[in-house]
Amino acid sequence: MDARTQKSCRTVAIVLAGGAGKRMQSTQKKQFLQIGGKELLYYSLKTMEDSFIDDIVVVTAPEDREHVQKEIVEAYGFAKVKAYADGGRERYHSVCNGLVAAETLKPDYVFIHDCARPFVTEEILERALESVQKLGACVVGMPVKDTIKIADREGNIDSTPDRNLVWQIQTPQVFSYKKIADAYERAIREEDALLEKGIHITDDAMVLELYSKDKIGLVEGSYDNFKVTTPEDITLAELYLERMNKSGNN
Ligand code: C5P
Repeated sequence: MDARTQKSCRTVAIVLAGGAGKRMQSTQKKQFLQIGGKELLYYSLKTMEDSFIDDIVVVTAPEDREHVQKEIVEAYGFAKVKAYADGGRERYHSVCNGLVAAETLKPDYVFIHDCARPFVTEEILERALESVQKLGACVVGMPVKDTIKIADREGNIDSTPDRNLVWQIQTPQVFSYKKIADAYERAIREEDALLEKGIHITDDAMVLELYSKDKIGLVEGSYDNFKVTTPEDITLAELYLERMNKSGNN
């Protein structure tokens, strides 16, 4: 049975497009760079729109909202986009704004996704749904292929973790709404203290890890679900799309 027939819960995707994309060395923000003739943000929204997800919240800088609404959401008929939220200074501020906007949609589960990962698939969303229904929290990722070293402050090797236990984390990261909203509220309240301790929030699971020992599932994503960060990644994304088009999957 697939997720559409199986699920009896409300799912909301929070799609993040509120970053400045400074590592792209481009005058244009990366969420609006084109691959395959469409802006990067289009791809995650299309996958969410065609999936079992009920509603979508798009997080974008205030000055980009009109463009997103007219040129992407309305132009492609993404009817599941029900709310917008403003991007914040850091990614975690943007997530927080997205969570506040999602509240009116009464989600059981939220799928927090970086639009910088255009090749998320419905299969990945389904695996995440299955895990979050069991555990209340899960993140998508892949086992690392390379050996990983932990460096010391001088830039020399400190230690080597067991490669079988190391995963690179992707998005979506999926949570019971209440659990993640409460944790984020606390993290924002305690933001200064966390920063003083040198704790920088770089993903959503980390916010839960800070405040609870609850299990967070690791769900297999895909090596194709990579993040477009630098100009080389745009070339890679173009090649990936070409491959998809040739195999008739897009
Ligand atoms: O910069 P990075 O690639 O880590 O950003 C990951 C995702 O988070 C991107 O989709 C970006 O648009 C989003 N983001 C955001 N608000 C920020 C920073 C990043 O919505 N302040």
